[in-house]
Amino acid sequence: MLQYDMLLLRFGEITVKGRNRSRFEKAALAHVQDLLQAYPATEIKKEYGRIYVVLNGEPAAPIIEVLKNVFGVTSISPVKVAAAEIDEIITQAVSFVESMNVAKETAFKVNARRVWKKFPVSSQEMNQIISSPILKSCSHLKVDVRHPEIELRIEVREQGAYLFSEVVPAAGGFPRGTNGKAMLLLSGGIDSPVAGWAAMRRGLEIECVHFHSYPYTSKKAEEKVIDLAQVLSGYYGKIKLHLVPFTEIQTTLAGGNHENVMITLMRRAMLRIATNLAERNGALALVTGDSLGQVASQTLASMNVIGKVTSLPMLRPLVTTDKEEIIGLAQQIGTYELSILPYEDCCTLFVPKSPSTNPNLHIIEKIEASLPQLDEQIKEAVSKTETIVIKPGETVIRRSQGEPVAQDKWF
Ligand code: ATP
Ligand code: MG
Repeated sequence: MLQYDMLLLRFGEITVKGRNRSRFEKAALAHVQDLLQAYPATEIKKEYGRIYVVLNGEPAAPIIEVLKNVFGVTSISPVKVAAAEIDEIITQAVSFVESMNVAKETAFKVNARRVWKKFPVSSQEMNQIISSPILKSCSHLKVDVRHPEIELRIEVREQGAYLFSEVVPAAGGFPRGTNGKAMLLLSGGIDSPVAGWAAMRRGLEIECVHFHSYPYTSKKAEEKVIDLAQVLSGYYGKIKLHLVPFTEIQTTLAGGNHENVMITLMRRAMLRIATNLAERNGALALVTGDSLGQVASQTLASMNVIGKVTSLPMLRPLVTTDKEEIIGLAQQIGTYELSILPYEDCCTLFVPKSPSTNPNLHIIEKIEASLPQLDEQIKEAVSKTETIVIKPGETVIRRSQGEPVAQDKWF
């Protein structure tokens, strides 16, 4: 196995952002620095449009696994460094390709680039000079410059020649926290954690808000949400989670006997609280895991009536994403196994037999106006909100709670 010397991290979309670019690149660099604290021998070098991580003997593969989650980085290549000297480059190129252990006949190409113009051999000449000893040493390779299965790229710079072949796709998007802050409504389901990750990938800092109906929802259900927030914190460094007591509000809303619009009423109450928390914490938007048409509360008509209750922009990163794709993303980001744990959510306690897919705003507002205690309860829920800061790998100190109450006691 080849011992790599360095990793090359590339930026994508952020390169188009003109004068903001250096701010974006600095944020990505800070993220990389945070993650590399676990690998103290590594060194970071920043260059225009790129970050290099000098490995100094640290292993490439696990570090790539960690760094491919850095938002704003589009791809990573492990690099072998040779002196900027043609014989040395040839020797390293041959052993680089030999180490790839290609068994069958494989199309191959050398793609050399002379970045340092004082280097005496041109890019074109290098391609030929370097290909032939490689072909001699690895007889099962054949050159195909149009459709190579293996491409050995060589960049000759004054400080050295960089040899690489593998290009590992990374998270992409915008670097950590470079597009402002939003409040994520985090349930224990599959969708909202993925929506949170997608929002973070777009450069948003997120805080999470979760509504629980303790003691009707169990401690386990809350632990599950804390665990989900912790997985998300791994993509950011730390995350704030606001735990909102929702039991009294639910009881009030259920008291009105409007079963078919219960979810609409609950969602609107959630959004009012989330908006208040967002304003207190400097978040300028709300994020949900809504996906168009997935359930009754996610039809266009429902989204309208629910969304009218807040003046903040509603961001729904998954609005056009199919469930299968959402599940795939949940598996990829590591939230799926937690999300499918069977603990009840405050809303699942209240799934009406026939939830309205087409609620009417005036009727909903009338129902709310007929519940005079609602405004006060919403204020109280905000004031009783418990906020915890969650960091990756850290044990979260949880509140002590009693035994969960069985679901049927709710009614
Ligand atoms: P999810 O997998 O995110 O729970 P879902 O398909 O179950 O999605 P709903 O239960 O209809 O969707 O909820 C829609 C969105 O409302 C969720 O994605 C989430 O953003 C928000 N939400 C629902 N329940 C809660 C809750 N208890 N606390 C915070 N947010 C919630
Ligand atoms: Mg849900």
